[in-house]
Amino acid sequence: MQQLLKTGVPDKELIQKFVFPEGRKRPLAVIECFQEIPCDPCVGACPTNAITMENISALPVLDPEKCIGCARCVSACPGLAIFMVLPSKGLVWMPHEFTPIPKRGDAVLALDREGNVVCQGKVRAVMNAKNKRATTVVCVEVPPEFVMDVRAIWPIEDQEFVKQEL
Ligand code: SF4
Ligand code: SF4
Repeated sequence: MQQLLKTGVPDKELIQKFVFPEGRKRPLAVIECFQEIPCDPCVGACPTNAITMENISALPVLDPEKCIGCARCVSACPGLAIFMVLPSKGLVWMPHEFTPIPKRGDAVLALDREGNVVCQGKVRAVMNAKNKRATTVVCVEVPPEFVMDVRAIWPIEDQEFVKQEL
């Protein structure tokens, strides 16, 4: 928790608690919300009640069996603290607040939680924000071993160059 409090970047031991269920075929939400703050849009956004909280300041709890992988919570979280992953396909869904919004097929730099470049990725889908309180969600394909490291993207200006490299 020390690093989180100092820098806003979650400590490794907090992240390592997440386990993707063996044999699961659907994407699964990853909630990286570790501070007890009065906030709960993730609970209301979930169509299957997969996210619950004991009270408004408690940490959200995910029931993987109820998660259908719709990414609504990713878009609804004002703290940009929810992601979605499908490790078997190397897919990571993440909130994206920067402009220009990337397009499907764009090559991008995939960054970790501290903004370091992890690898190159390819944008597979873009879900535009439906209202002012929502955030655009971008789905990026990266090498599967990096789905729990990649948490943001940065555009690559020379798309033609990168297409040749990928
Ligand atoms: S991805 Fe969809 S189903 Fe899963 S927790 Fe988020 S809102 Fe609920
Ligand atoms: S909406 Fe986001 S910041 Fe708020 S409780 Fe849920 S996960 Fe945490």
